[in-house]
Amino acid sequence: MKQVNTVLDQFGTTIFTTMSALALEHNAINLGQGFPDQDGPDFIKDAACDAIRQQPNQYPPMAGTTHLRQAVGDHNKRFYGLDSDWQTGVLVTSGATEAIAGALLGLINPGDEVVVIEPVFDCYIPMILRAGGIVRTVRLIPPHWTLSRQALEEAFSERTKLILLNSPQNPAARVYNADELALIAEMVLRYDTYAVCDEVYEHIVFDELEHIPLMSLPGMAERCVRIGSAGKTFSMTGWKVGYINAPPKLHDALCKAHQFLTFTTPPMLQHAVAEGLRLDDDYFRQLSLTQQKKRDILTTGLRRAGFDVLNSQGTYFLCADIRPTGFDGDDVAFCQHITRHAGVTALPLSAFYDLREAASDKKPPPPSHFIRFCFCKKDAVLEEAYEKLIDYFKP
Ligand code: GLN
Repeated sequence: MKQVNTVLDQFGTTIFTTMSALALEHNAINLGQGFPDQDGPDFIKDAACDAIRQQPNQYPPMAGTTHLRQAVGDHNKRFYGLDSDWQTGVLVTSGATEAIAGALLGLINPGDEVVVIEPVFDCYIPMILRAGGIVRTVRLIPPHWTLSRQALEEAFSERTKLILLNSPQNPAARVYNADELALIAEMVLRYDTYAVCDEVYEHIVFDELEHIPLMSLPGMAERCVRIGSAGKTFSMTGWKVGYINAPPKLHDALCKAHQFLTFTTPPMLQHAVAEGLRLDDDYFRQLSLTQQKKRDILTTGLRRAGFDVLNSQGTYFLCADIRPTGFDGDDVAFCQHITRHAGVTALPLSAFYDLREAASDKKPPPPSHFIRFCFCKKDAVLEEAYEKLIDYFKP
C-alpha cells in the first residue's frame, strides 16, 4: 500500500497523550499535560448554555461573530493599547493551535525558513514541516532561559519568512522582557520577516512582570499575528476557541487558511467567550495571582523533595532540575520512573527539542536533566503530589 504522509509519520504520539496514558495506567497524579482541574467562571458556561437554547446553532460568519470579534478588539485596546479593526484585523479560530496552523499554511511557501525557540512547544516543528517550511532553532540557555543576540543572529537570514514566538513561553516559563523583544523586533525588521506570536498565556504572568506583545513594539503592528486563547484565559482548555489579531494583509492570508481548515467555530462558545472578555481587570489579575500561588506551593514542595526548581515567570508550568535527586538516568526515564514508583507524572523537557537536529549532529543534544511540572491544579492535589515525591526521595 502507498505511504501515508511521511512528514507527520516521522513523529510519534505527543508526549502529552503518552504521559497522560501512563499516569492513568499507574493511577498517578498527572502534573504532565497542562490543563486546570477546575473550570473557569460559571457565568461563562451559563452564557454558552443560554446561547445554545436562544441563538441559532448554524454556521456563524467565517471570521467569527461580530460580538466576539469586537470583544477581542476591545480587549487588545484595553490591555495593550493595540488598535485593531475588528473587521479587517480580528479572526476567531477553533483553538490557538488552529490559528498557528493557519498562520503557517497561510504565510509560508515551501522552502521558507521559520525560526523557533527551544525548548519549543511540541506542535510547532511538525506543523512548520508539513507546511513545507524549514526549521531554524534558537536555544534558550538554562537555568534562566535567556535569549542571546548571537543565537538569534545565527538563525535569521534572508531566507527567513517568520519567527514563531511563544511568550509567556511553554515549557521554559519565560516571559520575554523588553530587551529581548526589541532584539527580536530588530531581526524581524532587518530581514523583512513576519512574527507569529503565540500569546495564549498572556494573562498568566507572575511577580508583577508585564506581558508585552511583540506587536506593540515600533514597526511590529504591520508584521505580527497575535494569537490568544479562551481556553487558557478562562480555564476551559476543552473549548478550543482562539483569536488572532493581525494587520489586514496577514489577516487575509489567515482567513484563506481558516476557511479551508475549520471554516468557523461553534457559535455558543464564541458568544460566551465574548462575554468573558468583557470581565473587568480584576478577573485577569486574579487569574495570574491564583496561578502564582499554585506555582509557589509546588515550588516549595519540590524543593523539599530535593529538586532544584527553576523560576517560572508565567504559564501553567515550572521546570525542575532532577540531578540533585541522585537519579541515575535521563529526563524521560525519570518521568516514567516517578509515574510508576512515586505516583506523580511530569514531562521530560527533551521532548520539547528538535530531536532530528540533535540526531544529525548539527547541534549538541538537548539537556536531559530538566522536567516540566504543571501546577494549575487544586492546592490539595499539588500538596499530595509533592508529599508523594518527598516520601519517595526523602523517606
Ligand atoms: N498546552 C498543553 C501543555 O503544554 C497541552 C497541549 C496538548 O495536550 N496538546 O501541556
